[in-house]
Amino acid sequence: LSSRLRPFTSTIFAEITELARRNEAVNLGQGFPDTDGPAGMLRSAERAIADGTNQYPPGPGEPELRAAIGAQRAADYGIEHDPETEILVTVGATEAISAAMLGLVEPGDEVVLLEPYYDSYPVAVSLAGGTRRTVPLRVSGGRFGLDAAALRAAVGPNTRALVLNSPHNPTGAVFTEAELAEVARVCRENDLLAITDEVYEHLVYDGRGHVPLATFPGMAERTLSVSSAGKSFNVTGWKIGWVCGPPELVAAVRAAKQFMTFVGGAPFQPAVAHALREERDWLPELRTELQQKRDRLRAGLGSAGFDVLACEGTYFLCADIRPLGYTDGAEFCRGLPERAGVAAIPLQVLCDDPEPVRHLVRFACCKRDEVIDEGVRRLHKLG
Ligand code: PMP
Ligand code: GLN
Repeated sequence: LSSRLRPFTSTIFAEITELARRNEAVNLGQGFPDTDGPAGMLRSAERAIADGTNQYPPGPGEPELRAAIGAQRAADYGIEHDPETEILVTVGATEAISAAMLGLVEPGDEVVLLEPYYDSYPVAVSLAGGTRRTVPLRVSGGRFGLDAAALRAAVGPNTRALVLNSPHNPTGAVFTEAELAEVARVCRENDLLAITDEVYEHLVYDGRGHVPLATFPGMAERTLSVSSAGKSFNVTGWKIGWVCGPPELVAAVRAAKQFMTFVGGAPFQPAVAHALREERDWLPELRTELQQKRDRLRAGLGSAGFDVLACEGTYFLCADIRPLGYTDGAEFCRGLPERAGVAAIPLQVLCDDPEPVRHLVRFACCKRDEVIDEGVRRLHKLG
């Protein structure tokens, strides 16, 4: 194994899902929904296959999909992109982020990650020959938030880029406008590239909305905004993602992407275009439904004895295991499928410094109500 990959063991999501399968556990670990997306979108994909949309699509993505992504961002955020040069379709958000690192980070460059981080970020930095600098998010008032002083302290002369994920996996935090403004200020003052992972952009609850970092002053020209259809339309297995930004940055991502996968998901691209364009009711309905599921799972975890942190967006709730007499989240999660028949994800494996989150584990609420209820019923046996 190359030295670039050696520090990384297998992904925690695959490990816990395999444990869940072996123990027939209720999988509240890996974040994927257990119901299908809009029927019209599924039919559109079937039609595309039947009609012969089965060969390589254009390198930057089907024009129809790039146009639909541009229209969504203009309508939702007032951001205008030229679909020819400023929007690139990728194999999920994962490829967009990896290709951005490979296309823009020089060996020796530093990249700032907030932790806990999504598990592919440190690997993407390492594959690009970069060095990560991590900044812990801090729990205050029952929610995870930005530690602006720690962020400033992590940035130095070799810092090239910062990755911002909001709404945030695994914490469920949605950064406030004040927090985003602070991140934007740090990026501007230090001439950083911002790579924003916005795959949960439509999953923000309690009447709040998603605010892209690219909308802050001086940020559009230095931001690559990444998103994906997986979480918005319940198709995590389709792996249709995209990245939007200024032409020279998008060109660098494309330069890497063309030799990684070239293209992907031909028949799914028109289907996602259809969903963005035509399925107008889907996203508000999904948001309402997931907010109810969040509330259901939060109440259930509370009744089972966990202390639950705020979930402002995403699929995820973080729970403190100490009230149940446990102290180590990784140990807890590796034993949970066998002990209780439930799967969850420990936060500490998503950090360089595990200590601040050792007692926290992540549960996913993007499951049918009866699945959530069965998971909660089983968790009650722990207490
Ligand atoms: N970023 C975050 C924060 C995620 O939670 C995920 C997983 N859904 C991804 C990226 C990967 O997205 P995709 O499946 O589109 O590659
Ligand atoms: N994004 C999902 C999660 O955080 C899973 C992604 C994966 O399995 N790689 O649970």
